[in-house]
Amino acid sequence: MPEIEQESLFRIDKSACVRCYNCMRSCPVNAIVIEEGKTKPSILEKRCIGCGRCFVVCDSGAVSYRNSVDEVDKFLQGEEDVIALLGPSIAAEFTDITDYRKLVAMIQALGFSHVQDVSFGVDLVAKGYAEFTRNFKGKYYLFANCPVVVNLVKKYHPDLLGNIAPLVSPPVAAAGVVREKYKGKDVKVVYFGPCIASKDEIGEYHGSRAIDANITFLELRELFKRYGIDEKNYEYEEFDEPLGYKGALYPISNGILQAGSIDESLLSGNVISADGHNDVMEAIEMFEKQGEEIKHHLNLFFCEGCVMGPGMQKRGEKFYRMAMITDFASRLLQDFDYTQWQKDIEHFQLVNLHRTFVADDQRLEEPPEEEIARILALVGKKDAPNDSGCGMCGFRSYREFAVMVSHGLAEPEMCVDYALRVKEERIKILTDSNRKLARDQRALLREVKESRQEINMAREARERAEVVLFQMNAGVVIVDHEFNVVESNQAFIDMLGEETREIAEIVPGLIGADLKTLLPHSFHNVFNYVFEQDQPVLNKDIQMDERLLNISVFPVRSKTVVGAIVRDMFRPEVQQEEVINRMTEVIDENLAMVQKIGFLLGEGASKTEKMLNSIIQSYTNKK
Ligand code: SF4
Ligand code: SF4
Repeated sequence: MPEIEQESLFRIDKSACVRCYNCMRSCPVNAIVIEEGKTKPSILEKRCIGCGRCFVVCDSGAVSYRNSVDEVDKFLQGEEDVIALLGPSIAAEFTDITDYRKLVAMIQALGFSHVQDVSFGVDLVAKGYAEFTRNFKGKYYLFANCPVVVNLVKKYHPDLLGNIAPLVSPPVAAAGVVREKYKGKDVKVVYFGPCIASKDEIGEYHGSRAIDANITFLELRELFKRYGIDEKNYEYEEFDEPLGYKGALYPISNGILQAGSIDESLLSGNVISADGHNDVMEAIEMFEKQGEEIKHHLNLFFCEGCVMGPGMQKRGEKFYRMAMITDFASRLLQDFDYTQWQKDIEHFQLVNLHRTFVADDQRLEEPPEEEIARILALVGKKDAPNDSGCGMCGFRSYREFAVMVSHGLAEPEMCVDYALRVKEERIKILTDSNRKLARDQRALLREVKESRQEINMAREARERAEVVLFQMNAGVVIVDHEFNVVESNQAFIDMLGEETREIAEIVPGLIGADLKTLLPHSFHNVFNYVFEQDQPVLNKDIQMDERLLNISVFPVRSKTVVGAIVRDMFRPEVQQEEVINRMTEVIDENLAMVQKIGFLLGEGASKTEKMLNSIIQSYTNKK
């Protein structure tokens, strides 16, 4: 399931977000943040002014706005008449439809009972602005047609609330007109426009000015698709009356001035028009700081005129669209019944165009200067002039960026310069550690090679030892500290008899066998002693059955492995060997004494020695 934020006008589907952060950079009021511990952006609805820039710049389709198509569809399925209010920007959006009258017919085909051009609402509102400008009473106003501009003032310039012209926007005026016209009837009113912020704006009006749903031109296209509406199937139809006059020029920023015949002369006029988010924000800031010096009302549109509204197809060409609007307005004015229009304007004067505003202050407290300085130093902009900035992060100055960082509404990494520096440092650390790793790897390979050589040498030595071990006449056994046999030779196995030989056929070398089950208890003590004392016991004679075994036990690995050499003293070759050994011992032990005796007896002593040596020699030869 896509993770979609609830209840907001705009949403970001995190699963579709590719983390390009275009939305964050394009948001003019920093309403999009990356929450702590997350990597994908979220919209702070309270801060959002509904401009739709995030939606327009998001090419991955992660940003979307509240869709009202189903709601309108439901109205169309209901009993009540549904009236369409059509914004004049249609001429800039539906350039693929040959004539506006076809569009009217297509909307009727959807099930709308009436199609009203909002241009007449523009004419009414323009008249209101004309009053303000002509009867100047010492107060300059910000025109309140663009809901985004109104939101911007309410949230970020609430001190200017009293300077917003207290007039409704044209769609609301048009709603007042149709509500008046169809007074007493249960009707639903749906506004089709290029704006997304107006979806929230309509929520402020009820009763005689209520708009029940607002869908964008993009959503209107969705409806056409859903209902399979194609222009080739329809004949021309006209808008319902009252028809607008120059109100059709409204999508071009100064169109409302022309609709109200408001003086646009640079010399005699008192209204400045501005559009596009940069100019509008700057104009409002100037108006707040130096309104009394500027001495002009401001006619403002956050987009570059409604011809470039976010609810229209993306990447529209502004000047082509403007041409489409003027063409549309000219066609409406051919054979225009001006007298009827004047009567209509007169009649609908009773529509209430007045409105009030409530502040929704979202300004942030200025952080302490030291905090700003710390952040600027972090991103390497400590010495940059106060109002300078590269604009890459979407903030207008380094200082503004630092303020946002201190409030947790921006990340230092959004500074491209800083992010690159951090990346370079990381690359350097990685390169260094890669080099070190390569060095370590080479050393390791050397060690592995040496170890292999050592292992081979050890294996060869072991093989040689095994050969020697197995060729010995004496029995050899090696056991671990639990008395399990680690190694034993054939002589040892033979020494223990037939039963042990059979075991050895199944378990070669008796490896793993318990020595305690193979040798009598008297042997265990000797092994135990060697394990405990870590000292050898040599040449110990132990009786086993009818045999006398001579055993030497010695530590192989301190207290964990011991080895034993066992000789059967009754075997002839052992007897001979033992006689030789023991006679050699006798000779050695008594040598001093023999020498003394020899010294005393002269030649007799050396004869004794010779005699003993000859006995030894004779045994050795036999062997
Ligand atoms: S513009 Fe779209 S894809 Fe890019 S960060 Fe914003 S939501 Fe994600
Ligand atoms: S609609 Fe505008 S103000 Fe709101 S989050 Fe998107 S870019 Fe920011």
